[in-house]
Amino acid sequence: MDSYDVVVIGSGIGGLVAAGLLARYGRRVLVCESHSLPGGAAHAFQRQGFTFDSGPSFYCGLADPTSCNPLREVLHALGESVEAIPYDPLGHYHFPDRTLAIYGDAERYQASLAEFSPQAAQELKALTQKMLAIYRPLGSIPTLALRADGWLLPTLLQRFPKAMVQLLPQLRGLGRSMGDFVDATVQDPWLRQLIDLECFLLSGMKAHQTVAPEMAFMFGERSESVIDYPIGGSGAIVDALVRGLKRWGGQLRLGTHVEKIWVDGGMAKGVRLKNGERIQAAKVISNATLWDTCNHLLRAEDLPASYGQQALKTPAVDSFMHLHLGIRSEGLENLTIHHVVVNDQNQDITTPGNTCMISIPSVLDPSLAPDGHHVIHTYTLEPWAGWQRDAGYGAKKEAKVQPLIRALQRVIPDICDRITLKLIGTPLTHQRFLRRHQGTYGPAIAAGQGLFPGCKTPIKGLYRVGDSTLPGIGVPAVAASGILCANSLVSPRETAALLDLQTHTGTQH
Ligand SMILES: Cc1cc2nc3c(=O)[nH]c(=O)nc-3n(C[C@H](O)[C@H](O)[C@H](O)COP(=O)(O)OP(=O)(O)OC[C@H]3O[C@@H](n4cnc5c(N)ncnc54)[C@H](O)[C@@H]3O)c2cc1C
Repeated sequence: MDSYDVVVIGSGIGGLVAAGLLARYGRRVLVCESHSLPGGAAHAFQRQGFTFDSGPSFYCGLADPTSCNPLREVLHALGESVEAIPYDPLGHYHFPDRTLAIYGDAERYQASLAEFSPQAAQELKALTQKMLAIYRPLGSIPTLALRADGWLLPTLLQRFPKAMVQLLPQLRGLGRSMGDFVDATVQDPWLRQLIDLECFLLSGMKAHQTVAPEMAFMFGERSESVIDYPIGGSGAIVDALVRGLKRWGGQLRLGTHVEKIWVDGGMAKGVRLKNGERIQAAKVISNATLWDTCNHLLRAEDLPASYGQQALKTPAVDSFMHLHLGIRSEGLENLTIHHVVVNDQNQDITTPGNTCMISIPSVLDPSLAPDGHHVIHTYTLEPWAGWQRDAGYGAKKEAKVQPLIRALQRVIPDICDRITLKLIGTPLTHQRFLRRHQGTYGPAIAAGQGLFPGCKTPIKGLYRVGDSTLPGIGVPAVAASGILCANSLVSPRETAALLDLQTHTGTQH
């Protein structure tokens, strides 16, 4: 039987970060991934010369040494980096009656808003200041210093006393919702709607449900660092993490589905694969979602009933309709990368099909599409319920992508005449390829309505990483979850030594 210090179930960004860092700390690490491609929701795939991002395309601070992006910190610790192209405006928001350019640069964003409402621009400025007051002290503490045990506070007080003092007045704000900040700062109805939209894009929920630090991080990174896109697409980030893992002796087995976490006497002992093979490990980390871990990877008798019930009661954000397109690009020279289209102003932005996200990364990196073409990923929320692979599946798919086509027509009016490759993904596709409970985007734990369970579990030796452990869905948040988990499995002295090394190599703020 193979034996490791740590087995990680899943090669999502959270799993790869935890695995890479633990390998960096000298642990013998194996990552088992069901899919034939690594990266989970962030994996890339290729068809007919097009390279598609399956999920994320929006990143900040990937190649900026001053950025607080935890992913960049980890890549640096692993001796890796990604090349990235900075750009601004970060995107355009298209409402039925207007289009707004959104900039990372705070002053340009305010100027763009002032064209429609000078009051909104002033209020955005005040809101940005409040967000930066949270972001700056938080951002001056490297995520690489964080851990999820009792050593956290002594470490922070000893190493970052100034930041801790600056954080004191912000402590109340850390637990509040973005909506609380909006209520205190913003009267303009148009800006209130805009902040709701920005929160929804990040967390899948509106401002009153989204925790403020999540938005503070977004405001801070996009205005104080850079918005950049990885050359080669999201897959380049995953490749860098996999290279980093292997460089430090870690292993990745693709096409390796874990059937069960092997628990004996209340302790995780390893995993059992679908093919029956057992792998022994002192520690097991699950990058599967909370629901999948509790429902499928553990037997009911292995978990305290209260934990299992609580986990399964956690509300989930809907899944998605995806439309991946290859299109002819002649005459589209001024196209920009990101667009968000709200199809109907009279409907709630969270209504499936109403808010559509569009990314066209080949405008920045032409290598993602054959000459004379662009690659497009557009998606919108779609509930899981009612989807099945039956005789009506094909027709339902076509009907459900119509809002996405309509949204694309706002950006590229003759889109239908340009399509050379069309791939439609449904909640079933999302669930199947990403092995995520009901194809969900992630947990919908509203601010003040419950706590995220963190990386520890009631089973000794079993830990969790990914988007159902810490507040915040998205690559930076799941990278942070991987760091917290890895650091909690090593001594504070080992973390301090790594931090010292990072500081001396000059790229740690
Ligand atoms: C459409 C879309 C757009 C997004 N856009 C952005 C964006 O622009 N910017 C941003 O920052 N974030 C974005 N996100 C969010 C971000 O991609 C995710 O939050 C993040 O990638 C999730 O990472 P994770 O670590 O939770 O793991 P996941 O991505 O969920 O990966 C888990 C992995 O575990 C594997 N696995 C599960 N069960 C098993 C098992 N039993 N055995 C073996 N392997 C298993 C799965 O196959 C998967 O590879 C987007 C997400 C989506 C879906």
